[in-house]
Amino acid sequence: MKRFTPFLILMTACMLIASPAFAKKVRWKVAMTWSSTLTPLASPAPKLAKLVSDMTNGNFEIRVEGSEKHKAPLGILDMVKGGQYEMGHSASYYWKGKDVTMVFFTSVPFGMTAAEQYAWFYYGGGMELMKKNYDKFGVLSFPGGNTGVQMGGWFRKEIKTLDDLKGLKMRIPGLAGEVFAKLGVNVTNIPSGELYTSLDRGTIDALEWVGPGMDIKMGFHKIAPYYYAGWHEPASEMQFLINKKEYDKLPDDYKAILETAMKAVSADMYSENFDASATAWAQMKTEFPNIKVMTFPPEVLKAMKAASVEAYEAYAADNPAFKEVYESQKAYMAMAREWTKMSDYYYIQTSEMVE
Ligand code: CA
Repeated sequence: MKRFTPFLILMTACMLIASPAFAKKVRWKVAMTWSSTLTPLASPAPKLAKLVSDMTNGNFEIRVEGSEKHKAPLGILDMVKGGQYEMGHSASYYWKGKDVTMVFFTSVPFGMTAAEQYAWFYYGGGMELMKKNYDKFGVLSFPGGNTGVQMGGWFRKEIKTLDDLKGLKMRIPGLAGEVFAKLGVNVTNIPSGELYTSLDRGTIDALEWVGPGMDIKMGFHKIAPYYYAGWHEPASEMQFLINKKEYDKLPDDYKAILETAMKAVSADMYSENFDASATAWAQMKTEFPNIKVMTFPPEVLKAMKAASVEAYEAYAADNPAFKEVYESQKAYMAMAREWTKMSDYYYIQTSEMVE
């Protein structure tokens, strides 16, 4: 055998030198729920595509398509499941109609903050629960960027009592919409392009969108002076969806590159949106000094909390999968919130004492 050794060394050397030439070429497409200009929501997918291409010397290319191209903003899960797109960028609560448990992987009323929720995803069992619940669709879901606390919305009139909610016409989607409906709000869903006109003409009395960074582009602050603090989407997480069969075909290095890039662009969107909101708010309050930032009165908040818990308990009673995720988040939040209070909350209070 000894006489073969130099030959084997030569062969190995040749293979090592030649290996980049054999790097697998992969071409994927990612469909976004958002139009290509709707940043920061539309930022993670193109940034992911660039990172993945750069890290594979252009061998793994991902083409990004916004909703202006595929025309199916709420069809992303179906398109990834069916294989028309290997990948999607969307938000899990849009699949509430297919499976109500999916709302927990975005954000829920009175749920966790972004820091708490990321800790739950990566270290508190959240990723495992997300995987378990997406298995039935043949897709994988990964965190895809967080908006942080969303504002409770723009109201044309002040909400002083629970009675002010009765008959109020408001655009507010998801579980929060169900909660508001319980409190007598006439909940509607209107396409984003018609929201400003609907509010301006009085077709609706109030609406929620995201936060200053995205709201400023919609112009709501020009026609509705009351800007309420959030309760309904404290940490909306976007998502990357991946067709599982296509993912399984990837070599291990591409999988590692893809997962690392998804995590990087998610963290980046959180920072991008924080900056956009801080910057936009500074501008809004200067240009429109009459905007009043409000919190809902305690009576209203208590009723919202009670109606939220009632909704959770009702779903949990006959849906074991919902119950499992609900209880996981509830237990994690009970623990994590103590630390959030001791750290961020007390720090801000302490800092303000000496101002
Ligand atoms: Ca929202």
